[in-house]
Amino acid sequence: MTTYITTPIYYVNAQPHLGHAYTTIVADTYSRFKRLCGEKVRFQTGTDEHGDKIVKAAEEQQVQPREYVDRISNLFRNTWPLLQIEPDHFIRTTDTEHIAVVQSILQKVHDSGDIYFDEYTGLYCRGCERYLTEKELVDGNCPDHQKPPEEIAEQNYFFRMSRYQQSLIDHIKSNPDFITPERYRNEVLSFLSEPLEDLCISRPKSRLTWGIELPFDDKFVTYVWFDALINYLTGIGYPDGPEFTAYWSVAEHLIAKDILKPHAIYWPTMLMAMGVPLYKKLHVHGYWNVDDTKMSKSIGNVVRPKELVMHYGVDTIRYFTLREMSFGLDSSFSSEAIVSRQNADLANDLGNLFSRTTAMVRKYRQAKVPKAGESTEGDRQLQAAARAMLRDYRQQMADFHFHRGLQTVWEFVGVANKYIVENEPWALAKDSSQAARLDTVLYNSLECLRLLTLVLQPVMPGAAAKMAAGLGLATGDERISSLAKGGVWNLLTPGSELQTIDNLFPRLDDNKKEKDAGAAGPKKEEKDAAPVIAGAGAGADLLDFASFQQLDLRVAEIVAAEPIKKSKKLLKLTVKAPEERTIVAGIAEFYQAEQLIGKQVIIVANLKPAKLMGVHSQGMVLAAKSDEGGQERLVLSSLSDRVVPGSKVA
Ligand SMILES: [Zn+2]
Repeated sequence: MTTYITTPIYYVNAQPHLGHAYTTIVADTYSRFKRLCGEKVRFQTGTDEHGDKIVKAAEEQQVQPREYVDRISNLFRNTWPLLQIEPDHFIRTTDTEHIAVVQSILQKVHDSGDIYFDEYTGLYCRGCERYLTEKELVDGNCPDHQKPPEEIAEQNYFFRMSRYQQSLIDHIKSNPDFITPERYRNEVLSFLSEPLEDLCISRPKSRLTWGIELPFDDKFVTYVWFDALINYLTGIGYPDGPEFTAYWSVAEHLIAKDILKPHAIYWPTMLMAMGVPLYKKLHVHGYWNVDDTKMSKSIGNVVRPKELVMHYGVDTIRYFTLREMSFGLDSSFSSEAIVSRQNADLANDLGNLFSRTTAMVRKYRQAKVPKAGESTEGDRQLQAAARAMLRDYRQQMADFHFHRGLQTVWEFVGVANKYIVENEPWALAKDSSQAARLDTVLYNSLECLRLLTLVLQPVMPGAAAKMAAGLGLATGDERISSLAKGGVWNLLTPGSELQTIDNLFPRLDDNKKEKDAGAAGPKKEEKDAAPVIAGAGAGADLLDFASFQQLDLRVAEIVAAEPIKKSKKLLKLTVKAPEERTIVAGIAEFYQAEQLIGKQVIIVANLKPAKLMGVHSQGMVLAAKSDEGGQERLVLSSLSDRVVPGSKVA
């Protein structure tokens, strides 16, 4: 099986932004996923460099168009490695091979009678250097130049697109997957229900010289779309290169919805006129709104990929964009949303599963993979959950439902975390008669980590490589790089050694969130009230109800826990109550970090924040202290049943 996936070639009148990054991350993830499935893959991206907008942009920067396009094209090319995007080919429409192919195609279509010369009358704005449509005018004026356009007649070349209208409708109707998601297919069919006009494909050189010259008339250059779309062919060696033969029949184009019409109508009709079979699929995605507003230069909310990577890290950005956007629909981008995904999904769920599992293997089994013994019903359920996850993941990723694929994976992360909580390896470790059982529980937990490494490789290649290293697996090991060979249970080798790696996903601080939490904290008049823990025992002064009400007691769920370096007593807890906060608790002598995750405890939520061993603590966990025959014990507060984190205790 082979796959050919393309992004649009990006127009170099603007610098790379989040929208470009998303499309290209999707293409890269899809190509890595297909490789994981054992397919031969070719992934192409590039830049579109002709047209009057480019000439204008170059003039603004007082450079020649050539110098300008080189500069911006390089910006795109250099952005992709930052996002761990690895295209097989980067094409530019100013490449000499591309120019030659475009000219040969123009000649061919001209010779076959599908390009003709005609006069065109339209409303031309000299400021915009283009024809405007009636719809674009505001009170009869060009909206950008506040002047009425001139009606001018111009002679141009036209592509007989109308001739292929019915064939295109038939093709779309008989190939339901040709344009997906379905809403875009419907949009195209609805557009095609009206008569299709022929497409003007030339610009006179008197108006524009920065373009590919028509081979049959040197007084004209090609209109940008007739030039740009052909990149999908030239990049794989059309007409007779071996790659063209290998890849064209499986071509899948990936675009944002703003360029649906050129890709769903111009391009297939051009291919029909050229006598080339149509591409296989067109995948269309929606827009990213930044803080619920459309991204635009004038608003100043343009998000740059380079800054994102610097702030949040490449794995987080790749994960966030794929997890957050339902492919095809618009989605919202905000730093709060990124921080919340990072802290909840990556640091808490996945990061903790990885760190506590490997920490226990280090602690109880000298960092060596143990040998699994007999399976219990619970073990078999875990294995069944792994199989179900692999099956769903494969289907969802192949269907471009990346967010659902990741949802499936994270449900499995939850299952694996629950497996640890239920099997209590820390308790098994205390009982030497349970050594074999402990081996099995640890082995199964490690297998979960290996399978997660496998399925996350296309999404977060960097994090997956780190996880693989932690499990002692080499890059390229089939157990983490092939779904067919690695997607089965029981592949880790007993006796092999784990490696120590850095924290996979450090928690991110969200400044804004902290500010909000501060505002919702104790009111000024309450601030100086001494924090009192009621009912501490005989002799405690009686408290009136109003004083009691000053205490904000809440149920908190522990979502992460880790020892604090250089402290024997303190643990750093991350709790949900319902917002996330950090609480330092002096319980390290009585509890191990890994056994606390998932527990619900009672906290004093409005205690003045304090810094303990350099960690900011926001609240206090309630626990009972007892003295049993000289032996001090400390037992955390708990509830007789689980409740929603953040519930008030009164
Ligand atoms: Zn204008």
